[in-house]
Amino acid sequence: MAENTIRLTGKRSSPFLDKVKKLLPDDGNLNLCLTCGACASGCPASGLDGMDPRKFLRMAAFGMDEEIKNMPWIWMCTMCQRCSYVCPMKIDIPQLVYNARAMVPREDRPKGIRDSCDMALRNDCCSAMGTAEEDFVFVVEDVLEEYQEAQPEFAEMTAPIDKEGAEFFINQNSREPVTEPDEMVPLWKILHLAGVNWTYGSKGWAAENYCLFLSDNESWEHITRTTAKQADQLGCKTYLNTE
Ligand code: SF4
Ligand code: SF4
Repeated sequence: MAENTIRLTGKRSSPFLDKVKKLLPDDGNLNLCLTCGACASGCPASGLDGMDPRKFLRMAAFGMDEEIKNMPWIWMCTMCQRCSYVCPMKIDIPQLVYNARAMVPREDRPKGIRDSCDMALRNDCCSAMGTAEEDFVFVVEDVLEEYQEAQPEFAEMTAPIDKEGAEFFINQNSREPVTEPDEMVPLWKILHLAGVNWTYGSKGWAAENYCLFLSDNESWEHITRTTAKQADQLGCKTYLNTE
């Protein structure tokens, strides 16, 4: 038998599937699979670890809870939601994956994701790289000045931080100010040319949220509330997440 074949070793109940069904509107439609394979054909994680979303759903339906919990594949899913988008029955497989991750004790979840979440909890910037507020402000101001001088047609361009009453509160992946600061500039240029009234926040400016991928509800909520609070305090009308 192939290494990744699903082995059924007797009648099982499906406590994991039953629990997730209770959490989701309309049970996440988790009982409605037609086994058509549309989810597997568009999934970027199909074939990794010999798995795909259709097989994953079957395993959950067969009550293979222990196998699911210990399967590296649940951490390979990108949560992109393509599977549920193409599914004719609108089955919510990403939520099933999310809750499978939550079955794993936090200390046993992948270190890279866990450390990135913990780093984001260190301060109110919510940066997975642990970047401090003053470092973000310094980089933005420094890069802006450089482009204003080097490209006279953008001498009036701005990159506001904590601008009260801006229409849009915009966030930024930490990787850019920390390792690729020039990558921030194209967006600034577009916003400038379009005459958009926008701002970053000195707090909650980081767009990534690894606590979501860690399935750490409490930390995910903390990060989201921190950044939303900054947008509210500045009186911004629209929160625009660039991730
Ligand atoms: S696309 Fe939906 S119905 Fe088809 S196999 Fe996947 S989960 Fe089942
Ligand atoms: S959400 Fe996960 S399972 Fe669904 S298509 Fe994306 S990677 Fe695949």
